[in-house]
Formats: sequence, structure tokens, C-alpha cells
Amino acid sequence: MTPAELAGAFQAMGLPGYRAEQVFRWLGRGAASFGEMTDLSLDLRSRLEEAFTLTALTRLRRQVSQVDGTEKYLWRLPDGESVETVLMRYKHGCTACISSQVGCRMGCAFCASTIGGKVRDLTASEMLDEVIRTGLESGTRVDGIVLMGIGEPLDNFDNVMRFLALVNDPAGAGIGMRHISLSTCGLVEEIDKLARLHLQLTLSVSLHAPDDETRSKLMPVNARHGVDQLYEACRRYFAVTGRRISFEYALVRDVNDTPWHARELVRRLRGTGSHVNLIRLNYVSERGLMPSRPETVRAFTKTLSDGGVTVTVRRRLGSDIDAACGQLRRGEMRKR
Ligand code: SAH
Repeated sequence: MTPAELAGAFQAMGLPGYRAEQVFRWLGRGAASFGEMTDLSLDLRSRLEEAFTLTALTRLRRQVSQVDGTEKYLWRLPDGESVETVLMRYKHGCTACISSQVGCRMGCAFCASTIGGKVRDLTASEMLDEVIRTGLESGTRVDGIVLMGIGEPLDNFDNVMRFLALVNDPAGAGIGMRHISLSTCGLVEEIDKLARLHLQLTLSVSLHAPDDETRSKLMPVNARHGVDQLYEACRRYFAVTGRRISFEYALVRDVNDTPWHARELVRRLRGTGSHVNLIRLNYVSERGLMPSRPETVRAFTKTLSDGGVTVTVRRRLGSDIDAACGQLRRGEMRKR
């Protein structure tokens, strides 16, 4: 519940507004039960327990990278399902990479999260709890969020928007929209819907190929809207919000990393002001695709920057702890 909704519900129970604020603060600090809210009377705590349901994620596993301090959490949800959150440490602060669904139904050929399909959407409170618990368990302040964990956030649109409002609220985690990135495999209608909300977040689009033939091999979503429609939606998004889009491009050996792909990407993106984030594919044993060779990554990067496209190669973090999307949950499922 947002502070306003909580205040409304408290008012209906004949409780003063400041009580709602008190409870919202407790929840933001990670209280998992009303019993923990020690500055409320015992009588009030039991009334709240009857009127509301509080759920909390519990920690199944925590892995800390010996290489770079990246932390990975596997959480148990109230119904026994599990999802992952990754905490990445940068000079300018800590960013949590959170999951938005249990599994995913988008079927990308290189991704571990989609094996086994989608089980269910995460609720707004479960996503918020990923942020709060990651802060508590790691003992650090979460300064930024990327919606790049398990799931397709725009396939869980309403819950994700509700989560964004909650995590943005100054009375709660207070994480500014400019510190939030949302990554999508490219759902065109939802990109338009998001544009209309004028949020100041960064939209990342998982492109992974500049052309229909290659992209359709890697991403089934491309059958729904081809790359032309996707580029158009991105152009509209920028026109409406004034926020530049960042494209993700995972380099897969001999599939999307040839000189032709680099030139075609330049042709499509030059002059749009878009940014390309190259990722060396994380090897997922079930998927049979290989990461590009380092010299190919260098050549690809050079073609892009020579062509006037701003490009960065994503630094690998947490490679010793299966930190890539969906790997930890996969491991847990294999054990069952
Ligand atoms: N569903 C959203 C967000 C989650 S995935 C999306 O598709 O954007 C976050 C990013 O990781 C996406 O760009 C996705 O394509 C990429 N990704 C998935 N599996 C990967 C792998 N094995 N190696 C490198 N990147 C991968």
C-alpha cells in the first residue's frame, strides 16, 4: 500500500493519520510482522494483525563474490517459489538488480530465467521487499535499482508501476527515478504505455541484433513486433519523454557478432543519440550458445564508436557466484 492508501485504511478503522505514517516507516525498515512495531500498543498491534496481511521474503542463500564483492541472494517467497536479487558495488554506490517475475515467458534463446517458463508475476510488495531485504542483509544502502533480474518487467506492468511508486516514495526507500533502470525485451505497446507516464527512469531495450533475421533466432518476441516497429517505439519514447534509450546487446559467438551486424547496428542507430551496452554472453550450460571471442568484442566495439554510436562494454561482476540472470534459481530447481 502507498502511504495514502494506508492512511485511508487506517482512517476507516478510526485510527489517526500519524499511525499510518509510523507503520509505513516500519515497513520501509523491513519489519516482517506487526509484533516488531514496538512503539505501537499491544492492542493496536493485534488489531492490525487481524486487519492486514504482512508477507516477507526469507533468505534461502547468500553468495558473496571473492573477486569484486558482488552479493547474490536467493529468496523464498510466501508460496514456496524463489527469485534472485544481485547487489553490485560501484564507486558511486550500490545497485540492486531485482527480479520482476518468477520465471519468464519470453523464451530468449540465451537466457537461463526463461527455461521452464513463467510461474507467476511478483507483487509490488515482493519487489519492494527484494530492495529492503537486500539492504538489510548486506548492511549497505541501496542507492539504485535495475529491473534486470528474472522476468520481463513490462509483462507485469501494473505491479511494476506500483512498485516504482512505492520504492520512489520519500517516506520509504526514497530511491529517485533517475537511479532506476528498467530493461525490456521490447514489448512495443507497453513501451508506449510507459512513455505516457513520463517517468524519469532509464529505459533499456534488449536488442541483441539489428535485423529481423538474427533477432528472431534469439528472441521469440521479435515475431510479435519486428525490429522496425521496435525502433519506431523507441523513437516515440524519446520524443515523448526526452529520455534517451540504452540498448543492450549480448554478443553471441558467430550469431550476432559479425562485422556485418556491427555495421548494420551503426546504420540503424547513428544520429539517434542512443547508447549501446555490449555484454559478453554469460555462458548458460543448457543453452549451447558461446560468448564472442575477446578480439571480436574489441572489433565490434570499434566499429560502433568509429560509426558515431556511443558504446560501453559491460564489466563482468560476480562471475564466480553465478550472478547472471536466473542462474541461481536454476541451480535450486535442478536440486528438487
Ligand atoms: N526481461 C528483461 C529484463 C531481464 S534480463 C529484458 O529482456 O531486458 C536482463 C538482461 O540480461 C537482458 O538484456 C537480457 O537479454 C540479458 N541476458 C539474459 N541472459 C543473458 C546471458 N546468458 N548473457 C548475457 N546477457 C543475458
